[in-house]
Amino acid sequence: MLYFEALEQAVPCRYELSWQAEPPALILRVNRQLVFLLENPDQDEIAELAKVNEFKNDFLATADSFGFDGVVKKVGLKGEFVEYEIEIPRVKKESGTCPICRGASKFFAVCAYCNSTDKTYKHDENKVRMISASLTILLRLLNWSDQEIKSKSIQLLTVQPITALGANGGSMSGIYSKSLVAWLDKTDIFELSQAMIAAMQTCWIQLLQETATKFFVSLNGDGKLSITCPGNSCGLDPGGLQTKQGYEFSSHNADSVWQQLTLLVGLAVLYDQARQANQK
Ligand SMILES: [Zn+2]
Repeated sequence: MLYFEALEQAVPCRYELSWQAEPPALILRVNRQLVFLLENPDQDEIAELAKVNEFKNDFLATADSFGFDGVVKKVGLKGEFVEYEIEIPRVKKESGTCPICRGASKFFAVCAYCNSTDKTYKHDENKVRMISASLTILLRLLNWSDQEIKSKSIQLLTVQPITALGANGGSMSGIYSKSLVAWLDKTDIFELSQAMIAAMQTCWIQLLQETATKFFVSLNGDGKLSITCPGNSCGLDPGGLQTKQGYEFSSHNADSVWQQLTLLVGLAVLYDQARQANQK
């Protein structure tokens, strides 16, 4: 029951999120004492997610890989954690030559369809959908296990995504812990926001091959964190359980799995910065 415990208590760290800029990847560190949970994912949940999302790839739960098509890859040990890497995939991919000008615009005309590049693109979100579903399963194992552990670090935030089709299909919720909120209270929000936005922008460019301007990170009137991602008012805001110390957050209008992954990258940078500050 980690998910809620972090609201008002300092609980031993079960997992950490982290960001790797090059190559762009979301890093997940799982406390070594809990790695055994990954050997036994819920088969009903796997079957349900595979059916809903029409995955053709197998679900792996081996020593080196976890998830659909093994998208969560073990990279090694780091202190008391086992480190996993989730590479940020491309959603926007080249799909052939321009069907309108058939390449002629490169020589003598302007083609609005292909911007005179003779290339067309399609969105293939299968890989990022497999990442979402794999993290949904993995984080549920870590968030809801009753296994007691010890750790030198404390859990700074928890997060639980879902993976569905249609509106709000990339939703998530979580807890900002008492320790994280205390740190946020005294940190430079401008510096933090710049770091979070830079990483989310890098993630977005990798996913969609385009820059986006609608990234915002701010503390609202009562000092609570809001993260905005491109889309239709997509982001993470306080919502649900609120205590004086920690509070719950949830997404709104996180319709796509790539918005979800981008928001997870924002949380990963938040985790990195808070962890560094805690270690000083
Ligand atoms: Zn064209």
